[in-house]
Amino acid sequence: MNGKLKTFVGGVHPPDGKALSKDCAIEKFPAPEKVYIPLTQHIGAPCKPLVAKGDEVKMGQMIGEAGGFVSAPVHSSVSGKVVAMEKRPNIFGLKSDTVVIENDGQDTWCDGMNQHQDVSGLNADEIKNRIVNGGIVGMGGATFPTHVKVSPPPEKSIDTLILNGVECEPYLTADDRLMLEEPERIVKGAQLLMKAVGARRGIIGIEANKPEAFKTISEAVKGVEGWSVEMLRVKYPQGAEKQLIKALLDREVPSGGLPMDAGALVNNVGTAAAVFDAVVLNKPLIERVTTVTGEGVERPANWLVRVGTPIRLLLEEAGVRPEAKKIILGGPMMGLAEFDLDLPVIKGTSGVLVLTEAADGDYENCIRCGRCVEGCPAYLIPSELSIIVEAGEFDMAKERNILDCIECGVCAYVCPARRPIIHLIKLGKAELAKRRSKAG
Ligand code: SF4
Ligand code: SF4
Repeated sequence: MNGKLKTFVGGVHPPDGKALSKDCAIEKFPAPEKVYIPLTQHIGAPCKPLVAKGDEVKMGQMIGEAGGFVSAPVHSSVSGKVVAMEKRPNIFGLKSDTVVIENDGQDTWCDGMNQHQDVSGLNADEIKNRIVNGGIVGMGGATFPTHVKVSPPPEKSIDTLILNGVECEPYLTADDRLMLEEPERIVKGAQLLMKAVGARRGIIGIEANKPEAFKTISEAVKGVEGWSVEMLRVKYPQGAEKQLIKALLDREVPSGGLPMDAGALVNNVGTAAAVFDAVVLNKPLIERVTTVTGEGVERPANWLVRVGTPIRLLLEEAGVRPEAKKIILGGPMMGLAEFDLDLPVIKGTSGVLVLTEAADGDYENCIRCGRCVEGCPAYLIPSELSIIVEAGEFDMAKERNILDCIECGVCAYVCPARRPIIHLIKLGKAELAKRRSKAG
C-alpha cells in the first residue's frame, strides 16, 4: 500500500526505531524542584526579562516579553521564587539568559488561566493575539513563532492549512501519542489556526506507519467543515514543509520561497494543541510532550514535561544503560548531539534520544557515487555544495541554491564516504547569513 500513497521526490528510509516508545502512553513528568527557563527558545529576537532575582512568580506568568515581532514570550512553568538570572548554555552551544525558579510545589496559576472559555465569537486578530500572548512556537522542533506564520502579508493568500502529523524523524513518537490521546484538542486548535489565517480548507497529513493515529484523527474530523485527513507514504523527510506541500497539494514552493508562496501554511499537530490551550484555556506554552528513547535507555517514555526541566532528570527516570554512547536532542536525522545534561527541556524539545553507537569521526574523499544527489529532497547537489564551501567559495554556494537546503541530513545519512556534508552546508549558510547582516 505504501507505494500508492502520496509522497515527494528523493528522501530515504532509515530504520525508524519507533517501536521502542510508540505504545508508551503520555505520562506527566514530575515538576522539578527548580526550573531553568531560557529567554531564547525560539527563532527570532531573544525575550527581555520581566522578573528579577527574589520575585515571586505564579504558574503561567509571563517572565520574558517578546523582543520583536519575530519572537515569542516565555512563561513560568511553576509557581515559586526567582532564585537566579544567569547565562547558561543552550542547545546550540551558546549561552543564553536564563531565569532559574525554585518551585514551591503549589502550582498556583495566574488569575483567569487554565480555564475553559467560549471562543466562538473571536475574530482572526483576537485569535492571533492569544497565540502571541501564549508564546506559541512551532512544536515540531523548528520553534518559529506561530503568530508570525499566521500573519502573512496581505498580498499572499493562503487557501490551505496543512497540519503536520507525519513525525518522520526516526524514534520520535510524541506526536503519534498526542494524536491518539488528544485528537479533539488538535482538531479544535487546527480550526482556530484556520480561522486566524483565513484558509478555506485544511488537510492533516499522517504517515502510513501510524494507522491508529490516522483512524483516531479521521474520527475527530468527521463533520468538521473543510477538513480532511490524508495518509502519506513512509519516507524521510516527509514532514518537511516543502515536501509535505508537494506530496499533499502537488505544489512546489519556489527556490528561496516560503510555503505561503504556494498558498499553504504548515503547522505541527503539537502546535495546534498548544494553540487550543492558549486560545480556549488561556494557558501559555509551559509544558510539552517529549519522547525519551533509544537503545541506550532502559524505560523509553513519552512524557508531558514542564519547560525548564533539566534533561538529566528525564534520563535518570528513563535509566541510561552502561553501553550508551551518544545523546541527541531531537531525532537522529536533524537533532543535535549534546554533552551537557543540565540543558533544560524547551518549547522545541521533541525528544531526547540515547544511542549506543557513536558516529565514526573519520571521513574520506567523495567517490562521486551520486547517492546524496538522488536522496536530496530539495533537488540540490550536496556533494558539490560541500566541496564549494570547503573551498570558501560562498558566493558560488549561493548561486547553487545552498539556501534551499532544509538541513534534513539525508545526504550525510546516505554518504558512504561519511563526508560531513550537512555540517559544511550549515557552515556555508551561516557565513552567508553573517554577510547579509553585515550588509544591513
Ligand atoms: S543538501 Fe540539504 S536538503 Fe539536500 S539532502 Fe542534504 S541536508 Fe537535505
Ligand atoms: S554520497 Fe558522498 S561520496 Fe557519494 S557523491 Fe555524495 S558526497 Fe560523494
